[in-house]
Amino acid sequence: PRQFFVGGNFKMNGVAQSITDIVKNLNGAKLDDTTEIGVAAQNVYDKPNGAFTGEISVEQLRDNKINWAVIGHSERRVILKESDEFIARKTKAAIEGGVSVIFCIGETLEEREGNQTIEVVTRQLNAVAKELSAEQWAKVVIAYEPVWAIGTGKVATTEQAQEVHAAIRKWLGEAISAQAQENVRVIYGGSVSEKNCRELATQPDVDGFLVGGASLKPAFVDIINARI
Ligand code: 13P
Repeated sequence: PRQFFVGGNFKMNGVAQSITDIVKNLNGAKLDDTTEIGVAAQNVYDKPNGAFTGEISVEQLRDNKINWAVIGHSERRVILKESDEFIARKTKAAIEGGVSVIFCIGETLEEREGNQTIEVVTRQLNAVAKELSAEQWAKVVIAYEPVWAIGTGKVATTEQAQEVHAAIRKWLGEAISAQAQENVRVIYGGSVSEKNCRELATQPDVDGFLVGGASLKPAFVDIINARI
């Protein structure tokens, strides 16, 4: 079975005091015995080093014992204009350097209303598939985050989430391998809260969550424990 995976995406929030409180709360939380806690970066660059002011390298992450990075978040795609190809190159660089990737995909409201959801997520997935070997998908967690659900309080329904997650799993089987289809985790993000997480977690293809706003609150623990 795929191990349940929950990420807290603090985004550009928090100062020393508030992050200390969050870490204290997590350290004191009652979690499943098998739970591992790690820190992920919110970005990484595709070049190993050099004159790239303001960027952070894979090696710098590893040096700081950071073995995970979030790549392709919609805020970086939309606000920072990151392309599918750039995101794919960053994903490859991260994995080749030993950093696992929470790879984010998802459609805008306009795309959903135009019935393009599966087409959009497939395009985003295909861009990365061009850069990775089938084995490298073992280092990827896919985060399906519909853009219209991020920070809006409008969570996807369990049916909407399950439908897209199942389509992503089918794609993994067809485009990558039977092993990737079975083992790659597909987590959901977009207005996940302690109130809606349990129902979403009942879905067979929802393997966890990527949580924004609620990860800054004590109730994040309830989301981590959604399947217990
Ligand atoms: P919210 O949980 O605040 O909607 O943010 C989701 C998100 O962007 C996680 O990456």
